[in-house]
Amino acid sequence: MIQVYNVCKSYQKDSSALDQINLKIGKGEFVYLTGSSGAGKSTLLKLLYGGERPNRGQILIDGRNLTRMGARQLPHIRRRLGIVFQDFKLISTRTVFENVAFALEVQGRKRFEISKKVYAALKNVGLEHKLNRRPLELSGGEQQRVAVARALVVDPIVLLADEPTGNLDPETTLELMELFKGANARGSTVVMATHDRELIRRFPRRVVTLDNGRVVDDSHV
Ligand code: ADP
Ligand code: ADP
Repeated sequence: MIQVYNVCKSYQKDSSALDQINLKIGKGEFVYLTGSSGAGKSTLLKLLYGGERPNRGQILIDGRNLTRMGARQLPHIRRRLGIVFQDFKLISTRTVFENVAFALEVQGRKRFEISKKVYAALKNVGLEHKLNRRPLELSGGEQQRVAVARALVVDPIVLLADEPTGNLDPETTLELMELFKGANARGSTVVMATHDRELIRRFPRRVVTLDNGRVVDDSHV
């Protein structure tokens, strides 16, 4: 599902955020990206959703070469990805419903279909009763669940998450993990950056460890 070949990324001369990364992630896998702050986790995720481009190397998602895509093609593959951030990145002026509906509107779906899918996605995260609220009226955990609903409403082939539990308390973290496991069980390949060792211990999956822009460990369970 994800193939990364000899990828290098540097933001500035003389320092590299990623150095010769090679990685294959199969369809349906659940993979943690771990490593200390500055190791390159966010950068790798950004390259996987096309938020940044590598200086060298190739990235394929579902057999399509991201690195060769132009600005017109990239949005097509991006629409099939779900992305969850540590700081949620919800649009505060829009309701919960509108935040989740946005990805489907961009796809040009019919209004009836959008309503049905948004409702189902919010029900999946237990927030169908809050669809008319705005993000700032919700707790942090609820906001993150809205962000997860937004990511999952498109039935993503790949779910990418950058420290999604970083701002959550332990109990809310477990709820979020159940949602990720559910998405994974329904077929989404999951790549989640985290430095939460306890989380990895409780939900053991493949762990790819980065250090200083290199893969230093890759342990399958
Ligand atoms: P992590 O997510 O593991 O904390 P990052 O991918 O954010 O690591 O960062 C990897 C390295 O790249 C760090 O040295 C960081 O300072 C640098 N970096 C990340 N983003 C940028 C940027 N936009 N501009 C310059 N340097 C960056
Ligand atoms: P995280 O460690 O959670 O990935 P950071 O706090 O390292 O997040 O980075 C937050 C944002 O700042 C990211 O968009 C990253 O690309 C950017 N960034 C990180 N390091 C640098 C840097 N040295 N110079 C400029 N931007 C950076």
